[in-house]
Amino acid sequence: MTRHSRDLRSQATQAADTRDTTRVEGSDKRRVLVIEDEPDMVRGLRDAMTFEGFDVLSANSGREGVDKQRETPAHLVILDLMLPDINGFKVCEEIRQFDQHVPVLMLTARSQEADKIRGFEVGADDYVTKPFSIGELLARINAMFRRLDLAATPAAQLRIGECEIDFKKQTVTRNQRAEVLSFYEVELLRLLCERVGEPVSRDEILEKIWGLEAAPTNRTVDNFIVKLRRKLERDPKNPRHILTVYGFGYKLVSD
Ligand code: CA
Repeated sequence: MTRHSRDLRSQATQAADTRDTTRVEGSDKRRVLVIEDEPDMVRGLRDAMTFEGFDVLSANSGREGVDKQRETPAHLVILDLMLPDINGFKVCEEIRQFDQHVPVLMLTARSQEADKIRGFEVGADDYVTKPFSIGELLARINAMFRRLDLAATPAAQLRIGECEIDFKKQTVTRNQRAEVLSFYEVELLRLLCERVGEPVSRDEILEKIWGLEAAPTNRTVDNFIVKLRRKLERDPKNPRHILTVYGFGYKLVSD
């Protein structure tokens, strides 16, 4: 391992170690916006999340949801795919035009892989298929907020090849051009940085970042690797930094 690799690893580890002492201070409640038209679902989500201490806003159409997030930005958005006016994909795209960072959790009755991939493409961070248990949903929401706290730490800036990564700003800069990293892109990159030079299995990534059980059809990790490579690699088809370990997972090489 080179000196640079060691530095990268120790910085990433330090950032991770500050996890418990850097929770966001302040008395403001965390605000969650629920964009969903089914009244029973909205009521159920509102009750459960209010009980957990969140401040819950709701919108019963896509258009109202986009407007609310623009006017009173929530810290997290729960977005149903099926809405009466514009669908959840479109809502997510519109929110991403003015808010790159808010975590978006999509709800859908469909379970097709194509929908999930499309959701990630338009900027959703996570996906829950109806019917889901409220316990599962709350666990996902709490995990997203824990990661937000971590992202809010004065994180190190890391260099990978010709890229400068800023975990706080959630950007990757190459040739003086900054690109924003999505919520899960940051988390995935952080995990690979913590283990620089070591293969990390798909199952471990899936479990640590998404809290999901591994499934043979799950392409979540691979899809996010493709997106990271587009931002980090000079030639994404011939990656030099985010390497595939065949039949196992991925490995980050920093220089
Ligand atoms: Ca709906």
